[in-house]
Amino acid sequence: MRIAFIAHDKKKDSMVAFTVAYKQVFEGHDLYATGTTGQRIIDATGLPVTRFQSGPLGGDQQIGALVAENKFDLIFFFRDPLTAQPHEPDIAALIRLCDVQNIPLATNMGTAEILVKGLERGELHWREIVAGKDKPTVNE
Ligand code: PGA
Repeated sequence: MRIAFIAHDKKKDSMVAFTVAYKQVFEGHDLYATGTTGQRIIDATGLPVTRFQSGPLGGDQQIGALVAENKFDLIFFFRDPLTAQPHEPDIAALIRLCDVQNIPLATNMGTAEILVKGLERGELHWREIVAGKDKPTVNE
């Protein structure tokens, strides 16, 4: 599965704890993230993560563009609902495009726990049928 991780600054510790807790589940999948979130996950888990730009610098837009092409199967986006973000339009666009493509999206830990258990049980294999397995290409 092609999985993307994004966490706003006040949610990064939660994202690190989440990826450490489920490291064994994420191993073997293709992992992507916005810049800072990805570095935090790499440092904490040692998992290989392909990093896009930092969110405020366009990382959400890069992931959003690939969502538009149905190139992700699962997205963990830990939003901070209590802090204004400079890239609010990019965030809204990314979430909207997930709904366009029916891409499972967790915007908080509660939903993330359910989706990762679904991933572990193989309940997301329908994504390969509807979306194929083309990998997102990342221009470094
Ligand atoms: P970051 O971006 O992982 O580079 O901090 C996340 C965001 O703020 O959207």
